[in-house]
Amino acid sequence: MLTTLHAIVLRPTPFQEGGLVVSFLTEHGERITGLAKGAKKPSAKWVSSFEPLSLVKVTFFGKEQSEIRRITRCELVQSPLALGHLDASLAMACLADLFDRVAKEGVEDERLYRLLSACGRALKSEPDRAFAILAWAEHWLLHCLGLLPAAKACGRCGNETAAFAAFSEEWGWLGGECAAVELREALPAGVKEHLARLRASTADEAPPAGTEAARAVTALLQARLLRELGDLGSYRVLHRMVP
Ligand SMILES: [Zn+2]
Repeated sequence: MLTTLHAIVLRPTPFQEGGLVVSFLTEHGERITGLAKGAKKPSAKWVSSFEPLSLVKVTFFGKEQSEIRRITRCELVQSPLALGHLDASLAMACLADLFDRVAKEGVEDERLYRLLSACGRALKSEPDRAFAILAWAEHWLLHCLGLLPAAKACGRCGNETAAFAAFSEEWGWLGGECAAVELREALPAGVKEHLARLRASTADEAPPAGTEAARAVTALLQARLLRELGDLGSYRVLHRMVP
C-alpha cells in the first residue's frame, strides 16, 4: 500500500548499508518513521530531502504500524533555511528533537504540525530571532502536553494583580506574598507580562529572548519540558554553546 503525505522531517538516523531511518511529523500531526534505502549514497535522488525541519512530500510503502515502512519517494517542498546560521541551526536541532519526542505514532495532533511549520517559516525569515522562536515553541509545546501552568493569577491564592515572584512545581506561578518563603528564587520583574506576550503572539512575533524576564521564564519552562521528555542531545549542545 502506498501513502503520500506532506510532512516535516524530524530526525534521520543512519541504518544498515547506507540507508536512513527517518522520522517525520505528518500534516496530521502524527509521528511516522520510514526506511530510505541507499539514501546516503551521493547519487541518491533524495539526498537533500532529509535535512531536519525540511518540508517534504513523502511516499511510504508498507502496512500501517506492523512493519518498518519503506520510503519510495521524498520530494523537497521547502528547505529549512539559511544554512550556516549558528543560532538557527541550534534552535532547529532542538525543535526536531522536541517534536520527535512529543509526537506519537498512531496519534494525530494537528496542533503539533501547525506549531512546527510556523516555527520553520519564522526561522527562515528571521534566523537572528531563533532563540525567541524556540522559547515560543517550548511554551506552546508545554501547553499541548497540558503542562503549562496558568499565568493569569497566583496559582496559590488566585491574586490576579500580584507580580509573579517564583515558580513552584506544585502551584505554578506564585505572587510575592505566597512566594515569601522561597524568596531566594525570586523572579525578575516582567515575568507575567512576558508570559502574556508568549500567549498572544504568533511565531513571527515571539517576544525577544534576551530580556531578564524572558531568560528566567525560558529557563523554567525549558527545565519543565526536559523533565517531562527526558534528556535531549540537542539541548546539551545548546547549553554548552549558549550557557
Ligand atoms: Zn498568592
